[in-house]
Amino acid sequence: MAKRLIFLGPPGAGKGTQAQILSENHQIPHVSTGDILRSAVAQQTPLGKQAQDYMNRGELVPDVLILNLIQDRLSYEDAVSGWILDGFPRNVNQAAFLEDLLAKLEQNADCVLNLEVPDEVLVGRLLARKRKDDNESTIRRRLEVYHQDTVPVINFYQQREILQTIDGNQTMTEVTQSLSEAIS
Ligand code: ADP
Repeated sequence: MAKRLIFLGPPGAGKGTQAQILSENHQIPHVSTGDILRSAVAQQTPLGKQAQDYMNRGELVPDVLILNLIQDRLSYEDAVSGWILDGFPRNVNQAAFLEDLLAKLEQNADCVLNLEVPDEVLVGRLLARKRKDDNESTIRRRLEVYHQDTVPVINFYQQREILQTIDGNQTMTEVTQSLSEAIS
């Protein structure tokens, strides 16, 4: 089974939920840059203080704040058994950095899972979720940033022939099933 997984997909696609389920089922850590940043903001660490305005506006946090964080996280001992990346990479620069980092660690990604959900479904889901950055204008901006910066990451992995696209507009159980088949 694939043990080093990257989740791609727009905000609201269900990456976090599905990554958590796979992480528990397969005993590999779920690494969510969004969760790490939210916890840094809650604790008002230097990272959190620098990240919070970007997050509240629906912009990406600058790469300089994210790249070291991922490098550190992937060198923890628990990451040796594998990992599920959720929320990273979010632009082509991050994807290229990750590729170099993984080559150095001799742990290439096994599989990139792209969860596809139409924009109009996403807006409804995100408005129902009521996280602090889930108001309509921030949501629209996050979707724009997704199309501009993150969609090129899909092409990046398509060229490397490790991308699998999953229909995220099914029930949660059906999506879990499709993902399990994709990585088995
Ligand atoms: P969503 O997928 O719903 O947008 P996330 O929890 O993945 O939510 O991310 C929340 C916010 O955290 C993003 O809008 C962005 O500001 C910031 N963020 C998360 N991951 C990254 C990343 N890899 N690069 C830059 N910013 C990030």
